[in-house]
Amino acid sequence: MMIQDTPIHALTPFTLLDYKDRTACIVWFSGCNMRCAYCHNPDIVLGNGTKSEEDVLEFLERRSGLLDGVVISGGEATCYKGLPAFLEKIKRMGYEVKLDSNGTYPNTIKYLFENHLIDYMALDYKASACAFQKVTRTGRRLWNNFQNTLEYLCANQKGKFEVRTTVHTDLLKEQDINAIISDLEEKNYSGTYYLQAYTHKEDGTLGHMLDQVKVLDTELIQESRKFRIDYRNF
Ligand code: SF4
Repeated sequence: MMIQDTPIHALTPFTLLDYKDRTACIVWFSGCNMRCAYCHNPDIVLGNGTKSEEDVLEFLERRSGLLDGVVISGGEATCYKGLPAFLEKIKRMGYEVKLDSNGTYPNTIKYLFENHLIDYMALDYKASACAFQKVTRTGRRLWNNFQNTLEYLCANQKGKFEVRTTVHTDLLKEQDINAIISDLEEKNYSGTYYLQAYTHKEDGTLGHMLDQVKVLDTELIQESRKFRIDYRNF
């Protein structure tokens, strides 16, 4: 099995925002199996990494006792074959680990949870079944993989993950969000469902998307009796 020498695009040394109630750093893996039109990280998705595992582990040695956790983000970190072994090293150093993921490698995610290599996960529910291809520019296989991950998490990891959707109204309408809410209800999701508005950044996206002319009409979003819905930046 080939393991890349420099799988990591960048390291953010400190954040208070990305891992709830923790001081953390963020490790941005390069490479992704999706091509979301609104993606703010084209360099990460398409480019090669610049840092090795050793670069990150040396940094974590120096921060020992000063940071609580490590956020593993990207790109899509679960594309990296060496991820479980890398996380073993981080866990041995005593850090808590949060994974940000699009959920398309269900076996890897199951392995990471069941071997205590991650403590928490943010799962991107990219789009309803109807809009998944348009948003992610991938096909049915990744949708099925995502659904497997969601089913596994809802059945086995309650309280250890959250679901979130980034909304650009050129790509997702209120009925897509309602379809996602219904799917989460069917699967007995019990965390908070976060909806975050797309915000335009000057440095470009994979699809050259401009800001939304009209944001989501939250009045048209159905309520759930099973979980809380939280809106960010609406
Ligand atoms: S927004 Fe889409 S293309 Fe960009 S890193 Fe996330 S999953 Fe990959």
